[in-house]
Amino acid sequence: MISVENLTKSFQHNGSTVRALDGVSMEVNPGSVCGVVGPSGAGKSTLARCIALLEKPDSGAIRVDGTDLVALEGRALRAARQQIGVVPQGDSLLRQRTAAGNVALPLEAAGISGPHRRARVGELLDLVGLTDKASVYPDQLSGGQRQRIAVARALAAKPSVLLADEPTSALDPGTTDSVLTVLDRARSELGVTVLVVTHDMAVVRKIADDVAVLEDGRVAEHGKVLDLVAEPGSQVSSTLLPATD
Ligand code: ATP
Ligand code: MG
Repeated sequence: MISVENLTKSFQHNGSTVRALDGVSMEVNPGSVCGVVGPSGAGKSTLARCIALLEKPDSGAIRVDGTDLVALEGRALRAARQQIGVVPQGDSLLRQRTAAGNVALPLEAAGISGPHRRARVGELLDLVGLTDKASVYPDQLSGGQRQRIAVARALAAKPSVLLADEPTSALDPGTTDSVLTVLDRARSELGVTVLVVTHDMAVVRKIADDVAVLEDGRVAEHGKVLDLVAEPGSQVSSTLLPATD
């Protein structure tokens, strides 16, 4: 269970303060997929980066399985980060490393070497259906294949939570489905709790159980996807979640 309580985060920009998160609270059930949607600048990536412990919130709590992660430092912080796999927004693979080399990165960082590492990389490439691309460089992969490798890399250290920030932006619908299939396998085969940031409602409808609608750094709405599609409560969700498509 991920539980976010009253999270705030401000940035200073050109002498003014931007309140990226303005008291965000939400819960994500274990083994579920939660979509995070909202307009550009709503705070989606900031929320994801805070939960991933890449950004420190100004106040509030982030609990994963009951432990508040916000106050952690040093070794405990590094250990907690390992529990959270991240697929960053944008193209995040290292160009000078093969697909297998990218997937191996977190394992190298964790000191896993030799046959253990190779076996784990093999499992992960199999999970994302790209065993045949092991020795290929990112430039020779399609956009969807690159994102699947990024998912495999995010899962390498066996995290209990996977955060994917716009994993399907700029992909066509068919390619999007191949990435969603991989996220769904992470949940169904590995029991990972998945948080997907997206601007694409089709993505939410296809794989998410729940959805949080962010607007101006606040949760405008949070609930079951089916309920919100049937009866959108806020202005944002009614524009984002049309009752018919
Ligand atoms: P998008 O859909 O465009 O990716 P988003 O919902 O992910 O948008 P965030 O990236 O979380 O939005 O940004 C929320 C707000 O915080 C924006 O106003 C943004 O300009 C600001 N912001 C985010 N990161 C920083 C930063 N490092 N420094 C200054 N301002 C920032
Ligand atoms: Mg973003």
